[in-house]
Amino acid sequence: MQKGSIEIIVGSMFSGKTHELIRRLRLCAIAKKKVQIFKSCLDDRYKHSSIVSHDGAELEGVPVRSSSQILEMLKSETQVVGIDEAQFFDPGIIDICELLANKGIRVITAGLDLDYRGMPFEITAQLMARAETATKNLAICTICGEDAHYSQRLGAPSTERVVVGATETYQARCRRCFEPPADSPLSKLKNNTTTQVVIPAKAGMTNFCN
Ligand SMILES: [Zn+2]
Repeated sequence: MQKGSIEIIVGSMFSGKTHELIRRLRLCAIAKKKVQIFKSCLDDRYKHSSIVSHDGAELEGVPVRSSSQILEMLKSETQVVGIDEAQFFDPGIIDICELLANKGIRVITAGLDLDYRGMPFEITAQLMARAETATKNLAICTICGEDAHYSQRLGAPSTERVVVGATETYQARCRRCFEPPADSPLSKLKNNTTTQVVIPAKAGMTNFCN
């Protein structure tokens, strides 16, 4: 049995995550590995049955309604599983990735690490910690051209965490140009002129300074 593993590629919108996922999966196909690719049926931006990068690269992918469907549809001969837009899945996707890797499958996932508020998506944060390798791609800031790792949502404010869209809905922004929405915990830190940060007290925490 080959040794399984979890790889994750994260970054903001337009950072080339899906492009990198497609590149790795194509190399697996060239190496004659048996590959299965899944995407959430929430992601219908381009084509229902493909994963597509913003620059037009494309691979066939099976849309699934829930993470458990990946297990149901898994073929016994599969050696590599590709999963795009991991943050669109239910939290069960984390254990499914572990399970597949423990079966000897190379799991390659891609997803947004931060939401429109600049706060971590729990699913990708968990996967980054559990994965053997995590790659963080940077985009280019639409405003100033610096490296960008935030996805700025444009248009009318919405507190929906997942709003599917592309250039009409989102811009890649750097730390300086990102404007956290009012509901983001980052908005308090953005233009804060004080140097004090309130650290919540937690029972059982050791104070290492004393
Ligand atoms: Zn910028």
